[in-house]
Amino acid sequence: MKKIVLALLLCFSPCAVSDGLPDLGDASQTVLTPLQERQIGQQSMMEIRASKQFLDDPEINDYLNKIGDKLVENSSEPGLGFEFFAINDLSVNAFAMPGGFIGVNSGLLLTVQSESELAAVLSHEIAHVTQHHLARMIAGQQGDSLMSMAALAVAILAARTSPQVTEAAIATVQAHSIQKRLDYTRANEQEADRIGLDILQKSDFNIHAMPEFLVRLQKATRLLDNNAPNYLRTHPITTDRVADIENRVQKQPYRLVPDSLDFLLVRTKLISSQKTAVDAIAYFSDALGKQKHGNPIAQRYGLVEALLRNNETGRAAQELGTLRKLAGSAQYSRNNAMLETLAGRVKRAEGNQAATLEFYRTAVQNFPQHRALIYDYADLLIQNNQAEDATKMLAAQILRHPSDTTLYDLQARAYAAQGKVLEQHKAQAYSYAWQGKLYAALEQLELAKKAGGSFYQLSTVESDMRELREILGEVNKP
Ligand SMILES: [Zn+2]
Repeated sequence: MKKIVLALLLCFSPCAVSDGLPDLGDASQTVLTPLQERQIGQQSMMEIRASKQFLDDPEINDYLNKIGDKLVENSSEPGLGFEFFAINDLSVNAFAMPGGFIGVNSGLLLTVQSESELAAVLSHEIAHVTQHHLARMIAGQQGDSLMSMAALAVAILAARTSPQVTEAAIATVQAHSIQKRLDYTRANEQEADRIGLDILQKSDFNIHAMPEFLVRLQKATRLLDNNAPNYLRTHPITTDRVADIENRVQKQPYRLVPDSLDFLLVRTKLISSQKTAVDAIAYFSDALGKQKHGNPIAQRYGLVEALLRNNETGRAAQELGTLRKLAGSAQYSRNNAMLETLAGRVKRAEGNQAATLEFYRTAVQNFPQHRALIYDYADLLIQNNQAEDATKMLAAQILRHPSDTTLYDLQARAYAAQGKVLEQHKAQAYSYAWQGKLYAALEQLELAKKAGGSFYQLSTVESDMRELREILGEVNKP
């Protein structure tokens, strides 16, 4: 298992990037290979994952991947292995990196007025990736751009050991695209619209959402003057462009597609996270009391979450009861993983350990893919001297999500609780490695080696150390 992860890491490292590029300075090269695209994307992704701007909420990221995967299935490259993730930034933006990594700002999630609008933006970004627009731009730049992209990747990796440089990572990647004028062209935009619209339609979303969102964004921007959202800077909206989409959409009947409950809950979570617990309680109570426009299940979800945050466990439990009744009778399925995760947290706060453990055992069986539940259950098992069970569950999850650093952190805790020191440091090393903290990872492997173990265990640690040193050696080459 571990072997695969480090093999991946090695393969995505910049040394592999430079090895894979036939001629770095060759201006005649106009395409990147799929592997090179993936490497550049993966490289930037490691950096983003380690930065403060990465919105490390498994429920929001799982949701984005769920809707994203549904769209990708209807794209021309369903097997590319897209990854969607949230960025904690209130400005309206979404961006695609080569290789299928698509970032969505919290500001965009809060600005869209329906799930179809979000799907429209994602479809457009997916189309940029499948049409290799950014990759072609990088490769097509006169002479130095491919070189500087690879050099940038190396610089980023080298900078990882220095926290202040790491913080600037996203800024670097974004500034780089601006400096190099890596904005999409008008032709790129029209192609992404056309293909995005096709993806949106095949995925059963409301295609009218695409022009609606663009027009609203355009109107809002006029009032902002120079403060155009980043999204408009990288994806320029022209009158032609909007007219073109409207023209395509007009021929199709208007079909209202209801928002999923997950979409509403994710937005509620984001709204709540902008407020203190007390303010959030007041906000959601007010919305429920006045029966304001909005979804009462989502509003009550926000209220329970805020009450829990404010340590009002009794009231949270009471409101949760109402919420579950409401969710059962509504058009939405009672079986929602986000509602179940919140219910688990309320149960945990109530303090009945046996009942809570029982609750999670069932919940994890019902929602084996919901990472927030897995994290909480693993934490609970470790606290209740059942670290061995936690280890088994985490190992299965890591196979599914080999780059999820929280899973490694939990695994390290579970091993520590069992006194398995070698495994503890090894798991910690993987967490650091996937955050790009390669020196810290090496240090953990050294501790693992010192702790001692079987011949087999020690030889895997040593082989991991060799691989890491190879990467670090490449990075530090003058
Ligand atoms: Zn675009």
